[in-house]
Amino acid sequence: MKIQAAVVSAIESGFDMEELDLDAPAADEILVKIEACGVCHTDVAARVHMRMPAVLGHEGTGTVVARGSAVRDVNIGDSVIMSYGWCGECGNCRTGHAYTCERGVEGSIGGLRFDGSSTITRAGDPISGAFFQQSSFASHALCPARDAVVVPPGLPPALRAALPCGVMTGAGAVLNVFGIAAGDTLAVFGAGAVGLSSIMAARLAGARVIVAVDIHAGRLELAQRLGATHVVDAGSSDVLGQLREICAAGFMYSLETSSNEEAFRTATACLAMRGTCGLVTVPHGGQPFPFSPLELMVKGARLQGIMLGSATPRAFLPKLIELHLQGRFPVDALITTYPFAQINEAFRDAKRGSALKPVLLMDD
Ligand SMILES: [Zn+2]
Ligand SMILES: [Zn+2]
Repeated sequence: MKIQAAVVSAIESGFDMEELDLDAPAADEILVKIEACGVCHTDVAARVHMRMPAVLGHEGTGTVVARGSAVRDVNIGDSVIMSYGWCGECGNCRTGHAYTCERGVEGSIGGLRFDGSSTITRAGDPISGAFFQQSSFASHALCPARDAVVVPPGLPPALRAALPCGVMTGAGAVLNVFGIAAGDTLAVFGAGAVGLSSIMAARLAGARVIVAVDIHAGRLELAQRLGATHVVDAGSSDVLGQLREICAAGFMYSLETSSNEEAFRTATACLAMRGTCGLVTVPHGGQPFPFSPLELMVKGARLQGIMLGSATPRAFLPKLIELHLQGRFPVDALITTYPFAQINEAFRDAKRGSALKPVLLMDD
């Protein structure tokens, strides 16, 4: 079928709207009419590893309009959120750890289905599609049915699109990986969509001290509204000293979301005995990560890589939606919407930091 999609032709290029051809659903796939898609740093960072041209977009949501012959658990007319792709066959997928699928990288940025076939062609030539097994910067997308979360009808598209990547990662780090409990202490480096989601989740879980560290005063203010008990200006001197003043024994948990090299150092140095530092990002430019092994060892502390919030979307996203509807997870505070045609403006604002969680609306 013909689709309208935003295409990137080169690693550095902006998006151009084009008419392309989308394959018919495979037996295990659904065809989704996209209503909204979140904008994420991964849509920029992944490009250097991909063949161009490409259709990106990996936080899509919409209505199912067709399904393959083998799909049983998703119906035409269902409202769905698409999350990350997973092969369904490796040891981690089979044991409920699809966020660490052994073919996850290939399935996310390989540009093809897991069986090696392409989903999108331009004038008969295959281009990179199947980004996170969806490529949702488009009017329609194909997605393996197992990646789709069926949600109640009537939820705003922008809310649905905000959830399946950064928000899931931040909230999942706190609830699924750290397992933060009442009275715990957390320092969050970077108050963007991931960091603020972790702060909302930590408040929900009853954390006693929640510190947001960022350079933007506006973000620190929002962090306080969403649950931070303290804020620290990352641009001020002696950030570690300020953290020690807030929590003399150190923090049981720290979460690094900023990609700032100095923040990595501070996130490990601020830990309490037996503390855990979670990493959901890497330093800018892929520099080595400076930390003191001795300090970790003598504290019996832990450095933990976190993929996708260790979340199983079909279990985790409905919980976040329910908490949102109860007013306890106000993720809408992070969202800025743009018509699909303004995709380049949405990425510009994300880069500037003036939009925390930009969401494209396909029907506007
Ligand atoms: Zn993302
Ligand atoms: Zn797998």
